[in-house]
Amino acid sequence: MSNSHPPKRIAIFGSTGSIGTQALDVIGANPESFSVEVLTAQSNEELLIKQAIHFKPNIVVIGDEKKYPKVKEELSSHNIKVFTGESALEEVASMDVYDMMIAAIVGFAGLKPTLKAIEAGKGIALANKETLVVAGDIVMQKAVEHRAPIIPVDSEHSAIFQCLVGETRNRIEKVILTASGGPFLGRKPNFLVNVKRDHALQHPNWTMGAKITIDSATLMNKGLEMIEAKWLFNLQPEQVQVLIHKESIIHSMVQFEDGSIKAQMGLPDMKLPIQYALAFPHRIPSNLKRYDFRKPAQLNFEEPDTKTFRNLTLATDAMYKGGNVPCILNAANEIAVYAFLRNRVGFLDMTDVIEKTMGHVSFIKNPTLEEYFESDGEARNFAASLIKL
Ligand code: NDP
Repeated sequence: MSNSHPPKRIAIFGSTGSIGTQALDVIGANPESFSVEVLTAQSNEELLIKQAIHFKPNIVVIGDEKKYPKVKEELSSHNIKVFTGESALEEVASMDVYDMMIAAIVGFAGLKPTLKAIEAGKGIALANKETLVVAGDIVMQKAVEHRAPIIPVDSEHSAIFQCLVGETRNRIEKVILTASGGPFLGRKPNFLVNVKRDHALQHPNWTMGAKITIDSATLMNKGLEMIEAKWLFNLQPEQVQVLIHKESIIHSMVQFEDGSIKAQMGLPDMKLPIQYALAFPHRIPSNLKRYDFRKPAQLNFEEPDTKTFRNLTLATDAMYKGGNVPCILNAANEIAVYAFLRNRVGFLDMTDVIEKTMGHVSFIKNPTLEEYFESDGEARNFAASLIKL
């Protein structure tokens, strides 16, 4: 981006999380290209306050209303507006104080503010994959209507997006989503049955928030990403393939009609796709570590073990069935992961909870937004009743 442009005004929804803090690192390293205008957190008021004092945004939102007085007090001398509550996220998302939202809230909670930003015609750097899993048809339709560009942050989707630059007229034969396989690659159910939270939170290649780390360990993350890819790139389910690539160097690939395959590669570091999404259509310099082909290294590929990691099968079913099924899958998964993180269910039980919930909530072929919210609520209640949460 050239210095002749004013900095792009950025709103980070979920600034205290793994993506949010890395986004602030990218912005902090490129102050001539980006300014921070909005920061939001749910309950980590300490970090939100620190970030606000450092980056001097226009507005901060603290979701948890109990934390509001402290944030307000600490920022009172800094000329920063402070809001609180769920509806404040939506209000701020609609405001004319920023150009691009980094959608980095975790889970279903990210959907409403992201929709508001789209309706306001903002650019969206989308990390929150659940937004597309839950209501991908409505989100993508609104993005077209309001001319709101959605640039993926998820490393696999960023890779596909980068492979597609300059290919607008060319048909995609398929996309190949690579997966590290998580910490339990090669393990079988007799091992997984005893897996506990702390072990599952150790990811071999990426440092991420707790929910996505568990999703990576169960391969649900790859399932959610399949559905995300379907919507982002307007694909049929048959065009989305998953391949285990444990080194996480190839971030994903696109195969075109002529048989040619493009891949995007690099060392695993989320700052790269975050920076790409923020700066798109430009590339700006970074000092991130480079992958060196001269160092002896092997790149390995294998089929996922869907018999052991059945979440991937459930997500594939949900993608094929469509309608509200991915929304149900997502809601049940959020409850199952929440319970697993609190040692209330076992590792393999999470899949059973999701499967039973998918079997319980009625199918709706073309849900309205309201119906997506209802399906989400019903699925959460049912999944919670199975776990006795
Ligand atoms: P984290 O759990 O690290 O951070 C989540 C952020 O959302 C925090 O700022 C948190 O605030 C806020 N938040 C949590 N719950 C709510 C809520 N109910 N309402 C409003 N804000 C809320 O998550 P990650 O950064 O790991 O992931 C964020 C999203 O990005 C997820 O959808 C994930 O799938 C996706 N993603 C993440 C990647 C990664 O490397 N981490 C890679 C690719 C995609 P607080 O800190 O106050 O709780």
